[in-house]
Amino acid sequence: MEKMYDVIIIGAGPAGLSAALYAGRAKLDTLLLERSKAGGQIATTHDVENYPGAIEDTTGPRLVARMVEQAKQFGVDIVYDDVKQVQLEGDDKVITGHKQTYHGKTVIIATGAEPRKLGVPGESELTGKGVSYCATCDGAFFEGLPVYVIGGGDTAVEEGLFIAKFARKVYIVHRRDELRAAKSIQEKAFANDKVEILWNKVVKEITGDGLVERLVLLDTVTSEETEILADEDDGTFGIFVLVGYLPETDIFKGIITTDRSGYIPTNDNMETNIPGVFAAGDVRVKPLRQVVTATNDGAIAAIQAEKYIANH
Ligand code: NAP
Repeated sequence: MEKMYDVIIIGAGPAGLSAALYAGRAKLDTLLLERSKAGGQIATTHDVENYPGAIEDTTGPRLVARMVEQAKQFGVDIVYDDVKQVQLEGDDKVITGHKQTYHGKTVIIATGAEPRKLGVPGESELTGKGVSYCATCDGAFFEGLPVYVIGGGDTAVEEGLFIAKFARKVYIVHRRDELRAAKSIQEKAFANDKVEILWNKVVKEITGDGLVERLVLLDTVTSEETEILADEDDGTFGIFVLVGYLPETDIFKGIITTDRSGYIPTNDNMETNIPGVFAAGDVRVKPLRQVVTATNDGAIAAIQAEKYIANH
């Protein structure tokens, strides 16, 4: 007879880790499954300064390490396995990973979202060769070089400021004439001499022989093209694509109801369309995707899972 967990949580970002903490603390037999590295997006976020109470030692990885430790203290099993298939109907919910199959009475989907790609020529070929989706991971590689950050949201501007610590110059390439980022973040960018904003521009093409050497921008107002070439001395420059996220819901397609963009709608109790299956964090349809809202969702999902088990 295979083990039946009370709760299986898929994804160990802030939502999954918070669900794990609450489920463990409620004495539920809890399994937390993670594909690669705990933490989700904050594992690669340099500074998390807007999570209440996080005023010292606020790097994403440190915050994650503390969340993992806290979940473990309440007896949660954390297993690294990549989920490839799910069967969510009925009382025995079956989660099939690459390594093993797991059974649970309830499931909390906390798979989060992944960086959106631009989909322009050269982008995938030059990923890891000058094109990056993670400033914290790769910012330091561009010490003394020019860097182009694509996007105008909180991530692009905040991470652009972080990259400016290393780079010779940071150009934020935005497709409109107004940033989406919070005003307080915008102000920091406007005040930083190393940061310049290229308004009304989108990327048309990226080229390079082994490393990024050329970037072509298209003006969204005049349709004029600008060709940016690497300095001869530098040989290359950086491109950080920070244009939002896409939900990680492929394995739930046709099983869980999603909206047109793939995000999972829930009610206030984090319930999905399938009884005993909850969703928490960035994977949900919601107005604000932050660590604080993810941890909120995780706590609610775990407590509702506890209630669901008690009533079944
Ligand atoms: P976002 O808010 O969705 O912004 C994406 C940005 O990329 C927008 O400026 C968008 O332009 C642009 N964009 C999208 N597709 C593009 C394309 N194909 N080509 C060029 N530009 C494109 O994403 P985010 O900045 O990653 O933030 C995600 C969520 O996390 C948000 O809720 C944000 O508030 C939150 N966040 C918060 C913090 C913080 O508070 N410290 C830090 C990071 C993220 P348009 O503006 O024209 O749509």
